[in-house]
Amino acid sequence: MSNWEMVGQEWAVEMLQQHIRNAQVRHAYLFCGPQGVGRRTLALHFAQALNCPNPVEPGIPCGTCRACSQIAAMQQADLHVVQAEIEGGVLKVENIRDLQHDLSLTPFESKYRIALLLRFEEANESTQNALLKTLEEPNSRVIILVTAENTEKLLPTIVSRCEVLRLRPVAPGLLSEALQKQGVESGQADLLAHVSGGRPGAALHMVREPQLLEERRQCLQDLLDLEASPLRDRFAYADRITRYKDGAREETKEDLRAQLETWLSFWRDVLLVATDAQVPLSNPDYTEQVHVMAGKLGVRGAKGKVMAHQQALDRLYFANLRLLMEIVLF
Ligand SMILES: [Zn+2]
Repeated sequence: MSNWEMVGQEWAVEMLQQHIRNAQVRHAYLFCGPQGVGRRTLALHFAQALNCPNPVEPGIPCGTCRACSQIAAMQQADLHVVQAEIEGGVLKVENIRDLQHDLSLTPFESKYRIALLLRFEEANESTQNALLKTLEEPNSRVIILVTAENTEKLLPTIVSRCEVLRLRPVAPGLLSEALQKQGVESGQADLLAHVSGGRPGAALHMVREPQLLEERRQCLQDLLDLEASPLRDRFAYADRITRYKDGAREETKEDLRAQLETWLSFWRDVLLVATDAQVPLSNPDYTEQVHVMAGKLGVRGAKGKVMAHQQALDRLYFANLRLLMEIVLF
């Protein structure tokens, strides 16, 4: 467990272990990076290292005791997990108020009370201000761990009070190797390492749910078909995929988000090829189609596609879904 069984991010593990070894643990940490890169996993391993009653050595949790298992499952008495009700939702100020009450108590059975605030970019301004108060009043038995996509949607005053760790995607070769160690066949491991964009969590998700790869294939096929279709068919498609039954709006949004992310990864590949960037593609099994599209659209066209998809993803939770998809498709 000396590397906390993380794939990549050795520098971050090393730094956190050093903080424990040197008794320099900070009051608050912010783990930034794309979803699935390992922010939460790293934070949980850190929580184990902080609160394991029988560490192998300082900074290295046993990984098997009751506390370690409960922390891994995010079900431990001194670990307080706070997150918006649904992914892409809004984290409300009441959640922080409850947390503040819990943190004011002495730890139940561990060295520290640990707050784990997930996807904190989903916190609205009053929620962020509420957390700021907690950050401004350090308590030696409380540690705050925050995860977020990036620092841009957070108050600068929050960021400045945290030790910030920026996690980057893992090199495809390294990730493929790790997947193979878990029993994934080498060709499949290579594909997943690329398709996941070097995000171990995303790759493992696809290992556990193999139909996701089939959905991705269908999704990319739709994209290629639509590119060759007349406007009328694209309208019909936008109408079909954005129609939902009562109460199913959230699910529809989640499906659309996954679809837009897959399409975005394809257009990013097209832009990479159009600009002649020498980096691995996210969709190596579509290399031929990516090259054809890059030749057709050029840098400007590819950039337009990338921007349109990014904007649609940013607006997904507020906009009229059908209108949004129509904009993407035209
Ligand atoms: Zn333990």
